[in-house]
This record gives sequence, C-alpha cells and structure tokens, in this order.
Amino acid sequence: MAKDVPVPSEADADRHRRIADNLGRLQSKVLKEFRKAVSKGFPRECPLCGHHGQFAPAGMPPRLDSQCPSCDSRERHRLFKLWLDRDQRITQAHKVLHFAPEPEFSKLLSRIAGAYVTADLRPRRVDLALNIESLDLADASFDVIIAHQILEHVDHHKALAECFRCLRPGGFLIMTTPIIEAWATTYENPDATSEVQRFVHFGQGDHVRFFGRDIRDDMAAAGFTREEVVSVEPDVSRYGLVRGETLFILTKPAKAATRAPTRKKKG
Ligand SMILES: [Zn+2]
Repeated sequence: MAKDVPVPSEADADRHRRIADNLGRLQSKVLKEFRKAVSKGFPRECPLCGHHGQFAPAGMPPRLDSQCPSCDSRERHRLFKLWLDRDQRITQAHKVLHFAPEPEFSKLLSRIAGAYVTADLRPRRVDLALNIESLDLADASFDVIIAHQILEHVDHHKALAECFRCLRPGGFLIMTTPIIEAWATTYENPDATSEVQRFVHFGQGDHVRFFGRDIRDDMAAAGFTREEVVSVEPDVSRYGLVRGETLFILTKPAKAATRAPTRKKKG
C-alpha cells in the first residue's frame, strides 16, 4: 500500500457506511417535504416534467437545489433533455442502445427513435445484460449509444473502443462523466481498493478515477470526433444545471474503420 494513501480502518469504514445511510434517509425525508412545500415561488423549471419551483437536495455531499421533486430528474438529466429537444438529432432512422437508462428517458426515446434497446451490467428492467468493456454485439450494430455516468466506473479505454466498434460509421455516443476541468490529467490510484477508500479518492465508493480534461485525448485515441454541449446561462438559472457541466457527443467518422486505431501507451 502506498504510504500517501489514507487507509481507513474497518471501524472507520463502518462509521462511514452508517453516516451515508443516515444521510440517504434524511435526503428521502427532505425530498418528500419538498414535494409538498416548494412547488411554487422559485424560478426553476424542469424540462422533463414541467415542474415550476425549487429543486430538492440530492447527491453526496448533497447539492441543495438538484432533484426535481416531481420527476426526480437531476442536473445532468435536464441538460440532456434540453439537448434532445433543441438538437433533434435522434430520429426514427436511428437504432439506439441506452446503458443504465432512467425511466423518464426510456419513455421518451422509445417514442422518438426507430428502435430503442436498454442495457446494463445487471439484467434488471433492461432488454440486454451487457458489459460495456466487452460488448456481446455485432460490429456497427447501433446508430446511437447513450452511456451517462458509466466511464468513471469501468476501464474507459475498453468502453470507448467497444462503443466505437458497435456504432455504425456516422453514428454517435452521447455521454456525461464527472470531470475536474482544472486538472490536466486524470487521477487514478490502484491502492484505493476498498469502497471507503474509493469514496475518499474518487467521491463515490464504486468510482475508479476522477477524469481530468485529458479525457478528450482518450476519446480521440478511440477514433471519435467530439462535440461538447456545456451548461451556460440562462439555462443554468432557469433549469437548475451544474455550471459548466459538459454533455459529450462523440461521433464515429463516416469513413472510419470498424475498430479504433491501436492505442499507444502514454509515456
Ligand atoms: Zn421534473
């Protein structure tokens, strides 16, 4: 174990779990109170359900104005919905694969896409059980892949390469992931192996890194071209978005070979 990695004791880990559980219960209680109390009088608007009013606390540590008390959308969901509405890029011509789908988007996307398939590592309430690091799918089998908040949990080099392989040329991957934009390089730490260590280092017990802005190099190395949709005003204030959060649209070039170029090791 590297000596610069704090190593919580088992007692610390237990205490952390108890605190997290208690905070979770507290948040559910507060959310219920918000549902009753704050439907009016605060200038937020939910583009998913039309709720007008304040949003409720969510996240760890809690963000005080985050979760729609009507449809449970959080900031990144609202950013994605605004892009869907404004860009209108997904149409009946598209076959869409959606990882870890939120129910509100499943309803919407199954209506606007020509074909809509849901997937997750665990086959609960989804069409396919798929590991994004090794997709049991044919090459070029989808037009659109949606994978929000996935890459911070997995080997993102493998995941990007697999999404690239399974997209048809001209198809695109839509994704968000936590990024520390002020960091030039991504932070990983192989010594942070327990749930509580990963919480300390990566902000959540099942995350394995914090991306720096060099995530863009990894997207390019996988073969993708990149568009970025950044949350700015007046959307931030109106829809309650995280300032500067980025939605990535990664396109497999129309003339791309099926597989990404072989990745060079970072020296
Ligand atoms: Zn809502």
